[in-house]
Amino acid sequence: MKQPTENTIISLKDIFIKFDDEVILNHINLDIHDNEFVTILGPSGCGKTTTLRIIGGFVEPDSGDVFFGGRRINGTPPNKRNVNTVFQKYSLFPHLNVFENVAFGLRLKKLPKAEIKEKVTQMLAIVDLKGYEKRSISKLSGGQQQRVAIARALVCNPDVVLLDEPLGALDLKLRKSMQLELKEIQQKTGKTFIYVTHDQEEALTMSDRVVVMNNGVIEQTGTPEDIYNEPVNAFVADFIGEANILNGTMIDDCRVKILGKELECVDRGFGKNTPVDVVIRPEDIEITAPENGQLVGTVQKSTFKGVHYEMSVMCGRCELLIHSTRSAEIGSQIGMCVIPFNIQIMNKLLPFYNNVIEAEVTGCDRDKKTFDFELEGETVTASGRVFDVGTRVKITLPPDALSLAGDGVGDLKDVYIESVVYKGEHNEIILESDERKWLMLSDTDEQVATYVPLAFDFSKASFEVIGKPEEG
Ligand code: ATP
Repeated sequence: MKQPTENTIISLKDIFIKFDDEVILNHINLDIHDNEFVTILGPSGCGKTTTLRIIGGFVEPDSGDVFFGGRRINGTPPNKRNVNTVFQKYSLFPHLNVFENVAFGLRLKKLPKAEIKEKVTQMLAIVDLKGYEKRSISKLSGGQQQRVAIARALVCNPDVVLLDEPLGALDLKLRKSMQLELKEIQQKTGKTFIYVTHDQEEALTMSDRVVVMNNGVIEQTGTPEDIYNEPVNAFVADFIGEANILNGTMIDDCRVKILGKELECVDRGFGKNTPVDVVIRPEDIEITAPENGQLVGTVQKSTFKGVHYEMSVMCGRCELLIHSTRSAEIGSQIGMCVIPFNIQIMNKLLPFYNNVIEAEVTGCDRDKKTFDFELEGETVTASGRVFDVGTRVKITLPPDALSLAGDGVGDLKDVYIESVVYKGEHNEIILESDERKWLMLSDTDEQVATYVPLAFDFSKASFEVIGKPEEG
């Protein structure tokens, strides 16, 4: 097993956990360094809080190891880990004043009165609450209560502070100023902060490193700049900031085809004629005269946003988002250019074409022209073709043959929506059933991390017989 590096304070190794038969963390590995501000970012339900709770000792993983300063701490209770947690609901004691709330942990440790006074005073100065010692908790604003909660977590001198969406209850303006304050407090105290949020802007503003999670796995770890400029896949690109995410083909090293045009890029090693996802940030598209553009499109919408215009431009059937300080008339044709460095190439989220079912026919109705087969424990009836019972059939469903069905209907009753990425024309949706992933196209927005019934339109499928029924 790889040992944590010298300044690694926390190390998660191959952490796996299931709740009610559902995989919540799927073999995650993460090293967190001393003095780092690390943010775990991801959509609701992806496993962020569970990761934090495992570090805090509130939840034990089914397998995998947690190291603290190089020592394995599985089974060590929360109060024996040098970690403190700040929850979204600050859990302050309403009957105690500010001083006593902060002093609480120190009193439990039975520290001398003078030492408690010194530590609390020092901590209240750090969180900018000097002079508020005697104030009752109920007379504090949300931001002030937040700062008391942070002071209380820091006063016992933990090596690591865990913060679970601590700014979630604050209004936007206060939230923004608290983000900067939190970062400042972290720098002043030199502690390791592990922060959980689903707000990408918050993560980019505060963190030294961002850990992007989805569906129980870590998709990418890196500095905010890395994550924004070099997303590893369409999920990360879509989740972090605004992006045009397009289907493309890597023709060869440094040549990519998107929207019917071959463009120069800087990426290599994807092979020849490989389907890829291509990311172009809205601010990286330069508007030119149509005759000078690598791409040409028609302006559909233009909104002034203070510093830039936000434009929606149709390029063939694909919608592109542009942020530009130059405006263009709605309905006019414009040219668009992107320098090679600003075209990001990524592997597709689903590396192989996935919607292929290999099944044995379990029933058939020649009059209705239907046949049945078993799929992940459910009986599915396909119409339009008929095969003898016992025939093995390979069924290929194009992504537009999949749709979400109403409650109680559908060929698969409970499928998880893993990601939804807008590709300029449709949403590309990745679904997960018990045994496989599916790729679906949809014009409507679907809610990630929810369970839905999935229906197949077999009139769009292709069928191939791969085994005949046994004779006799
Ligand atoms: P959010 O941003 O909504 O808080 P999250 O990314 O922090 O989401 P978790 O709280 O880690 O997600 O939860 C991940 C999944 O595990 C969710 O589907 C949740 O319902 C489930 N879960 C969490 N704790 C338990 C538990 N004690 N028992 C059963 N299921 C649980």
